[in-house]
Amino acid sequence: MITKVVVDSGQMVHFTRVHKSILKALEHFGIYYELLDLHTSRFSSAELEDTHLLILAQEGIGKSLSTDEATTILKMVSRGMGLVVLDGYLEWYPASFLKGLGFTTISSKKTSLVKICGEGAISRNILKQDVVLKRDVLSSSVEVDNNSGWIPFLVDENENFCGIYKRAGKGKIVLYLLSASLWQDECLGFTEGLDGIFRNALVWAAKKPYITKGMPPFITARIDDVSFSGSPVARYKETVSNLRWLDILNRYGFTPNAGLFIDDIKEEDVRGIRLKYTDGLAEFSPHAFSDPKNINEFPIYMKHSGEEFPDDVLKDNFERVDRRFAHWGIKPSMTVNAHFGEIGLKALPYLKARGQRYLMNPIRVGMLWDDPSSHRWDVAPYGKPAFSMGTIPEDKDIFNVVSHPGDMSSSVPDFDFLCGCTTFWNENPGTDIKKAVERGTFHILRGLENGFFGCLMTHEERISHLTPEQWEMIIKEISTRIRRVSHIFKSYDYISRYAENRTLYRIEWLEYKDGFSIHLKGKNKLPQYLYLFTDEGEKVVERFLEVPEFENSVILHFSAPADVI
Ligand SMILES: [Zn+2]
Repeated sequence: MITKVVVDSGQMVHFTRVHKSILKALEHFGIYYELLDLHTSRFSSAELEDTHLLILAQEGIGKSLSTDEATTILKMVSRGMGLVVLDGYLEWYPASFLKGLGFTTISSKKTSLVKICGEGAISRNILKQDVVLKRDVLSSSVEVDNNSGWIPFLVDENENFCGIYKRAGKGKIVLYLLSASLWQDECLGFTEGLDGIFRNALVWAAKKPYITKGMPPFITARIDDVSFSGSPVARYKETVSNLRWLDILNRYGFTPNAGLFIDDIKEEDVRGIRLKYTDGLAEFSPHAFSDPKNINEFPIYMKHSGEEFPDDVLKDNFERVDRRFAHWGIKPSMTVNAHFGEIGLKALPYLKARGQRYLMNPIRVGMLWDDPSSHRWDVAPYGKPAFSMGTIPEDKDIFNVVSHPGDMSSSVPDFDFLCGCTTFWNENPGTDIKKAVERGTFHILRGLENGFFGCLMTHEERISHLTPEQWEMIIKEISTRIRRVSHIFKSYDYISRYAENRTLYRIEWLEYKDGFSIHLKGKNKLPQYLYLFTDEGEKVVERFLEVPEFENSVILHFSAPADVI
């Protein structure tokens, strides 16, 4: 029950590129795969016997396939194996392969924009957006007969097919008609609008049952610059008093992480904060001491000049934070929510000593938000800090967990879903509820499509420019719209711990015989969930298999669900 990825290490440039992009994405989506390297080994049907999915991944791989191998692939598909062709520059493939796919006339062109079409098997529930490529990508034009069974899922601006799929015998084929250079950052890359399609294509094509260890669809919220009743900018005091906006988030299932301006917090809110904390309805993190001018004037972790604090000042800062949290009777969240994301390297040992080993930082530690290089950070899986789940290069004990769609290079905080929707900073002449709902829904769903988590992120200043009724209308409508995809509300700390645990073990082998046997190696300290995919007509059904805590190694047995047998 394995996925095989066909590559050719003899083509060094393309082989290196596939490692940097597609293989990272396969790992991120939890695909259990092995490489089939045509430079060192060739294959026949025997090698593909237990293969549930074959991926032609490397740019130009068509040139490396022999005619016999191409024939074998199509034969195995007719017997039930799934096939995903990520390099669809077809002129390089053996003629027998193209004939087997039913193509006669093939020409090449360049594509600069792709659109996801309809509500088909692969595009169902996917956000439909035009995706503009950073650089043109070579693509193939094929004549497709209406009776051939091919259905488009991607088209260009002229409605030419860029991605098609069909059933072939007992198996399924997904064919991108674009060169695999599409998945390089120079052309587009991952987290840029096609990840949901990428993942759905694999899962649809794979022979079922199919098991992956992808992130479950967790959703949380992150609210920065929180002062509650002590807000210096609130237009509607009733929204920030008595933790009203937080009550409303809770009412619709969210357990937010609140980044506190700790010196702003008034005694009248302390009881409410403590209750939310003990009831598990919110997590609180020291964001900054205060910052009424929004210039990070009173930071905790690093000076806004980019300098580290002297040791005695840093020690004093942390002790001030400790005293405040002790007075409130709560502990800070394990995931640090820092103002501007500005955390000095010297602050890391202090955080670790307090059990705060996780960050939600969209910028590099030790750097300033305004420094463009702070947005370049080699964090897993893609080296993109706005979508990151991995240890940081500066300290292997610190794990960064971020899922922020939006333009991070923008001069306005586009990653804040209320940005441009309220009267705060005169961003809008009035309150635009429709835009806020659309942006919030998009931010959550894009995070899920990318295989991270849904994160509703905003700043309390913008919430405080809404009446409680307006805020509730927005949150209620977002929670209604996200119902079309399955999801699970969790706190940020839970998601951080889950994401880290997911990296501590791997699937060693999978076997399907009556039920499932799954051998896992590594360790797990928090129950995990493997996806189990089965087919129900054209629809792919998702279930979860629970992985208990274990050390070193475990073999799990699950009986197959009734519709799989
Ligand atoms: Zn802030």
